[in-house]
Amino acid sequence: MNRVNLLDLDQAALVAFFESIGEKPFRARQVMHWLHQYGADSFEGMTDLAKSLRAKLPEVAEIRPPVLGHEQISADGTRKWLLEVGPSNRVETVFIPETDRGTLCVSTQVGCALDCAFCSTGKQGFNRNLSVAEIVGQLWWANRALGRDPKGERIISNVVLMGMGEPLLNFDATVAAVSLMLDDHAYGLSRRRVTISTSGIVPAMDRLRERMPVALAVSLHASNDALRDELVPINRKYPLKQLMAACKRYVNDGPRDFITFEYIMLDGVNDRPEHADQLLQLTRDVPCKFNLIPFNPFPMSGFRRSPGETVRRFASRLMAEGRIATTRKTRGDDIDAACGQLAGQVEDRSRRVLQRMELAA
Ligand code: SAH
Ligand code: SF4
Repeated sequence: MNRVNLLDLDQAALVAFFESIGEKPFRARQVMHWLHQYGADSFEGMTDLAKSLRAKLPEVAEIRPPVLGHEQISADGTRKWLLEVGPSNRVETVFIPETDRGTLCVSTQVGCALDCAFCSTGKQGFNRNLSVAEIVGQLWWANRALGRDPKGERIISNVVLMGMGEPLLNFDATVAAVSLMLDDHAYGLSRRRVTISTSGIVPAMDRLRERMPVALAVSLHASNDALRDELVPINRKYPLKQLMAACKRYVNDGPRDFITFEYIMLDGVNDRPEHADQLLQLTRDVPCKFNLIPFNPFPMSGFRRSPGETVRRFASRLMAEGRIATTRKTRGDDIDAACGQLAGQVEDRSRRVLQRMELAA
């Protein structure tokens, strides 16, 4: 019989599991404390479980986090861990320390199929979705590595699902992993401190709003459909009008009263004054904040980072109309841990499938 990996189960699934082996539901919560609050990797130390249950569990269940590869530490304190998720496949997770918080940037897929023009992950193609254990396992490992501060608080106070992959195209696993992040019996983070970043999968944004509303960041990157079709190809399926409507619906029910629009600054491509004006127009009735992201180059990307002065002027133009625009600080680029640089290792299947089709044609 296949043993169940308990790191794959959120509270509801864990309750169902314990019921299925004839145990009371409260066992689920006890085990969650051990797994997620103490980072237990075996059943032996779970001292508040009956001995008989401790003996039975290893026969039917296991605790199997993703395999930790090597760790890199940047001069600015950013840390990056590589996780082995099967032969030739690795994903990355990044910890970004700041004075008032510690943020973990989590991956949700091995690669990404959406192929945004400026994204290193996208250029690698797609292999598969990560499981719940592989997504939440990133937080599990990082908490074990970082421990707690002198006051006994966890070092990681915020999670952003902004690593490799499109979280809303791995919907069920993402929602279950987020449910553990929010669960007081596991990581106990507030909905406002867990942010999902999406390229704009409109129907899944609506499902998220209904199932698990957390803070939402939308990768906008362009101020009109023609440009966004090129930079973020999923725009051809869910164009800006639909996307803006979905954002408005989300704000109504979400835990924050704004959407964060991520906007990568590409020299001469989307950084002109008229783009700022179009952005203002496009988002005029969407409660939002803009987060301008300096482009992080990678080999053969074909783009250049906008000069600092251009970024400042772009931000001022938005702010002159009363909008909030911040510029993201680039962190960890000496260890390729900055936004868009996460590459891990992806044995690309999308391209292979595509090549086969081309050969056959
Ligand atoms: N797929 C989701 C989440 C992962 S990408 C999304 O697209 O939102 C997370 C963020 O990294 C996105 O805002 C993306 O635009 C940004 N990013 C991608 N490539 C980048 C690069 N080369 N430089 C800076 N940011 C980049
Ligand atoms: Fe995928 Fe996000 Fe990269 Fe686009 S920016 S290719 S959606 S990971």
